[in-house]
Amino acid sequence: MTVPDATQPDAGKPKPHYKRVLLKVSGEVLMGEQGYGIDMNTVDAVAEEVAEVVGMGVELCLVIGGGNIFRGLSTAARGMERASADYMGMLATVMNALAMQNALEKLGVSTRVQSAIRMDTVCEPYIRRRAQRHLEKGRVVIFAAGTGNPFFTTDSGAALRAAEMGCDALLKGTSVDGVYTSDPKKDASATRYERLSYMDVLSRDLRVMDASAISLMRDNGIPIVVFSIRHPGRLRDVILGQGTRTIISEGRLERE
Ligand code: UDP
Repeated sequence: MTVPDATQPDAGKPKPHYKRVLLKVSGEVLMGEQGYGIDMNTVDAVAEEVAEVVGMGVELCLVIGGGNIFRGLSTAARGMERASADYMGMLATVMNALAMQNALEKLGVSTRVQSAIRMDTVCEPYIRRRAQRHLEKGRVVIFAAGTGNPFFTTDSGAALRAAEMGCDALLKGTSVDGVYTSDPKKDASATRYERLSYMDVLSRDLRVMDASAISLMRDNGIPIVVFSIRHPGRLRDVILGQGTRTIISEGRLERE
């Protein structure tokens, strides 16, 4: 056993398993128990989780969905042109990003919002090298407006940015603590997978993220970690390489 050198400032501190991560939080998480919109108490709670791991020295970028405010596909199904509905969905993600920025800055975390759709009076445009520089300086970069393109989702936006930023992992913070054999809210016999391969997720149609996001992570060898962001302290555990979660990588299928 190695004994920490007490003369070092980091002595005894837990060491993060990842240096740089992208955290994807679905819009659904931010609505809390409300059923619609932004619940500021929930945003504050997620911000506290983020602030804690940023304090551990982890470089963190965030992608937040917009499903708590607007989903293009469901509105298109009610007769609106899909592309226009999707642009509205992307604007919803900007609102969530600004709410999260505000919550993080209240906690003293330095942040920048970068949008894939230019809106220069509100936030920065997405510029890859600039985003990387922010991360190197310890700022949290919140990527808004998904990919900037209709017919995509924020999951694909998260995968794209995780690859562009050279992240060590894509962390998917949801309201469930991993990937289950079936919906645990409906099926009491559902069990959680400890590990899955990208191909398991695709071939079993497990609907963790959309197929384009999974494929992009597979092509770039970036693991996806699915965990509950609603559980206090879980993000920290995941960053330390522990806690209840499902890891999707090239590894074998393994149930708990
Ligand atoms: N959207 C889009 N292109 C993107 C990202 C998002 O068109 O690159 C739109 C799409 O209409 C989607 C909405 O934005 O329904 C909200 O995003 P999403 O459903 O992915 O949010 P989440 O489910 O994560 O809350």
